[in-house]
Amino acid sequence: MKINEIFNSLQGEGYHSGTAAVFVRLSGCNLCCPFCDTQHESRVEMDEAAIVEAVRRYPARLVVVTGGEPSLQLTASLVDALHKVQKYVAVETNGTCALPPNVDWVTLSPKDAWLGAEAAVVLTEVDELKVVYDGEHEPRGYEDVKAGHRFLQPMDTGDEVRNARIVAATVEYIRQHPQWRLSLQIHKILNIR
Ligand code: SF4
Repeated sequence: MKINEIFNSLQGEGYHSGTAAVFVRLSGCNLCCPFCDTQHESRVEMDEAAIVEAVRRYPARLVVVTGGEPSLQLTASLVDALHKVQKYVAVETNGTCALPPNVDWVTLSPKDAWLGAEAAVVLTEVDELKVVYDGEHEPRGYEDVKAGHRFLQPMDTGDEVRNARIVAATVEYIRQHPQWRLSLQIHKILNIR
């Protein structure tokens, strides 16, 4: 399996925000988003046993498998192996490919609003939906996707003034559309990984 990095931090976004987590970043993605800020291309080869061993070094029960796009590599046998050491396996996906059925938590972060058909979502049921909002364009609701929680996350433009405007617009949007909850990238606020 091609691994970009394994590290210990707090989950910064969505339902598990603030929870200690081990992040397993898989290398490679099937999309090429213009705003992608994840350095996921560098890689080392690790087998499942080595991945489990690296994850076990940390006490966090929550393991967040991310990328890149984790569905391109993640296997049911790795999820099983993580379960055997009492880990809870969450996956962050763009939703374009099927996932192993034994993952514990699926976070869907669709990219089709920017990329169109090449990023079409095939998942129909997830634990949480996380949609990035630019403060201007009506966010797509993905009503066809069954989701336990629906989070709206202000886009990070890298520009403080613009970001403040987008956060204010997101708060106002949620006031008017209470099916959404606010997701902030608290790792950026806290200046941690
Ligand atoms: S789906 Fe995620 S990792 Fe892949 S290019 Fe888009 S933002 Fe980057």
